[in-house]
Parts: sequence; C-alpha cells; structure tokens
Amino acid sequence: MTRWTQELLDEAQALAQASRYRSALGKLLVILDVYPDQPETLKLASSVVRLGSRRTTDAAPGEALEPQHLFDSRLDPVFCSCDAPGCEVSWVSAHHMLEDYAGATITNPLGARCPSCDLTLCRRHLPIGESGLAGDCERCGALLDAAPPPNGRETNQTPRLNKRLVDVIVLVEGKRPPAADFLTELCGNVMPDVFEDAPHIHGLNERKFKGDGYDLGLIAAFTADDAYGTDDYDVRVYPGHQAGRRNRRWVIVKIFENRPKHVDPHNPATGA
Ligand SMILES: [Zn+2]
Ligand SMILES: [Zn+2]
Ligand SMILES: [Zn+2]
Repeated sequence: MTRWTQELLDEAQALAQASRYRSALGKLLVILDVYPDQPETLKLASSVVRLGSRRTTDAAPGEALEPQHLFDSRLDPVFCSCDAPGCEVSWVSAHHMLEDYAGATITNPLGARCPSCDLTLCRRHLPIGESGLAGDCERCGALLDAAPPPNGRETNQTPRLNKRLVDVIVLVEGKRPPAADFLTELCGNVMPDVFEDAPHIHGLNERKFKGDGYDLGLIAAFTADDAYGTDDYDVRVYPGHQAGRRNRRWVIVKIFENRPKHVDPHNPATGA
C-alpha cells in the first residue's frame, strides 16, 4: 500500500469513528477509483456502509448514506447478492465486522450463504430455523453461514471511470425530449456519477431508433462538440430502456475527459 492510500484510509477511519459515514465513504471511493480491489479499503467500506445505512444509524447530521451512495458501482465488490431467480436484493454481510469476533452468532441475518455449494440467499428466500438463526442449505443440507464474504452484485448502472465526466447526452425514443424529472431519476438510478462531477446534461429525442440507438448516440455526441471525436475525450455509449410496461428506449452517452481523475502521486503508473 502506498503512503497516499494509507493516508486516505486513515482519514476514512477517523471519519467513520466520528460517525461521519458519508465523508468516510468519499475518501474510500477515491482510493477505489485508483485501486478498485484494494482489500483494506473494501473492508472498511463494508463497515461504513453497514453503519451508515441502517435505520438506526448513529450518523452525524448529513452523514447517513442514501440509496444514491449505496448504488455506487465502486461498492459492488462489498455486497452479497441473492441467487433466487428474479430476486435483486443485495446487502452487506457482517463478515468483515465479525472477523475479530470468532464464533459470534447472528440472529435475523440479512442473508446467508452455503459454505459448501455457495448458494447465497437474501432474508426473504432463506430457510430460517426456529431459533431465528439461518437454517440448513435446501440444496445440499450444509449449515448456512449468516455472515459470508461478499459474492459481489450486478447493477444496471452505466460504468463509471476514473475520469472526469464532463458531458452527458440522454437521447430518448419518442416525440418529445425527456422531462427534467425523468432525467433526474435516470441519473440517480443508472449514473450517480453525475452528482459528483456536475457535467452538462442534454436531453434529446429521436422519433424512431434504428437498432438499439448506439449510432444515434455517437452522432449526437460528435454533433454536440467536434472535439469529442479527438483523443482529449473518452466517449462511451450505453443503450438501455425503461423497466416495465412503457419500456421506453434510451441511449446514454457519457463523455469523459481522457485523463485520470484521481492519481496516486506515489505510484506513477496510476497517472498513465
Ligand atoms: Zn432473494
Ligand atoms: Zn449448499
Ligand atoms: Zn454539453
């Protein structure tokens, strides 16, 4: 671990101890921008997420964690996710917090995993024994682990990069450009990095998409600014659609400045 990493980690630790979970998470996310798998950072992040997002959190004013913080794709590796078909529940298990308390029992776990066949289930899909503890695996009969290490989660977010987001184009299929509240909701759900970098956001529409709209998105970006076609920018296009009955199609174009946002000054490789 470099000194830069250690210093950020120490700051995050101190903030977490002062119940300033949102600020602590902010420091940890900077490390994860540069080192997405850094183990001590992921470990502390899982504690911060648990402490800062419970209903009974002791967070300082303005320091509780809201869904938009928890959806951050940099946190995917600290989450457990349910294997039941169609279930999208994810949670942070007590695994890391309990490492120092061997043999602790957990009542009413958020979920559990079978140590023998790896089946992972959320609370709703879990067989709970009479004592309120996790029961046996319904697939292989082994005793379930109520505080398993994370198995990661999949989100429907557009990928984020360690690059500054400068411009966003949301192109929807239909007769009208997207309304402001639609854009706000879409940002919260699939690209919370807009709240961090405050890019321009353009809402456009196209009557009928050809294919999934990927090419239309790319054209919209190059029309917005010629420079987006140069090496100074990194343009990413993500076709998608609204969930549910209306199923409105969209294309999100994220335009990043083509250089690292966070650099570890003690590790030249991270500036490349
Ligand atoms: Zn489930
Ligand atoms: Zn099993
Ligand atoms: Zn713009």
